[in-house]
Amino acid sequence: MKRLTWLLGAVAFIACIADANAQAPVGPVALTVRLPNPGQKLLFVDEVMPVKPGPLTLYYPKWIPGDHTPDGEIEKILGLEFTAGGKRLEWHRDELDKFTFLLTIPAGADRLDIRFEFPARDRITANLMDLTWDNVALYQAGSPTKLQMYEPTLVIPADWKFAAALETAKRDGATITFKPVPFNTLVDSPVIAGKYFRSVDVTPTGASVHRYLDMVGDSESAVKISDKQIAGFRSLVEQAQALFHSHHYDSYHFLVTLSDHTSVGGLEHHQSSDDRARSGSKMFADADHFMLDGSLLPHEYTHSWNGKFMRPAGLWQPDFEQPERAGLLWVYEGLTVYLGDVLTVRSGLWSADT
Ligand SMILES: [Zn+2]
Repeated sequence: MKRLTWLLGAVAFIACIADANAQAPVGPVALTVRLPNPGQKLLFVDEVMPVKPGPLTLYYPKWIPGDHTPDGEIEKILGLEFTAGGKRLEWHRDELDKFTFLLTIPAGADRLDIRFEFPARDRITANLMDLTWDNVALYQAGSPTKLQMYEPTLVIPADWKFAAALETAKRDGATITFKPVPFNTLVDSPVIAGKYFRSVDVTPTGASVHRYLDMVGDSESAVKISDKQIAGFRSLVEQAQALFHSHHYDSYHFLVTLSDHTSVGGLEHHQSSDDRARSGSKMFADADHFMLDGSLLPHEYTHSWNGKFMRPAGLWQPDFEQPERAGLLWVYEGLTVYLGDVLTVRSGLWSADT
């Protein structure tokens, strides 16, 4: 009996240690992404990760939040190289999962250098970039992404401006250093940058939490927005507050890309949205184009509440390798389509007739 008690105690202790290892924090990982020549549309990634000797499994983000499908752009990455202790390491791809990389850290090494390139033809032009961090980072298996800290650095042309929900630690010419964030926050925080840039504060009068309409475009005329259109977006923030009676961010950035040469669509985030106008550089040019893209920002903004702050349990993931279970997508996406359209009208971005 006594022996059994001891045995059970030992098993519980070992289980506890194993659990602690599974939850072990990772980092900080220094992640540097460089865009030396926008015309080349090629991002250079350099990731320095603290590691321990022995087997290591790394993942490339697979299930991208908001896409609800395993569409991480693994097939695009080029020139992948791992170095530790001054030596280039051998690596293997998991036979059943192309997003999983297996390697062994040699004795005595405490950091792993990861390098690769990512061509982003649909996200970069000679004058702008729309960066999503899930394209440009690997992370460790076995620890939730909220426990993996990243220190992101971005190197872009020195005359470009930028916007993101990330907090900037400093900018020195071409180099922007952001404050450290967990990996899931990084993936949730895209950056727009470009030569033709405009940021408008759309915080309603009297509100203390700031909301920004940040725009990057192909030309100076693409980011030319009228006072009436700006008033519509300020009204959107007011109407959303009236509808939800709450918001769940420290500040919010609408990150709008106005280009005829990038992919179109929108992706929701907790403190920002990645909005790529269907009318491209003409979104603000006239009433017809503006009507076409009218519900894009209201839809993605609604997701900060429905989809990010609150989400069906099956659509929550501890990391980007675990699948999303989309049975309640009609709540996540269907309700957002409905409420987003209601807000588009209430804010005056669409007329009642539209
Ligand atoms: Zn949506």
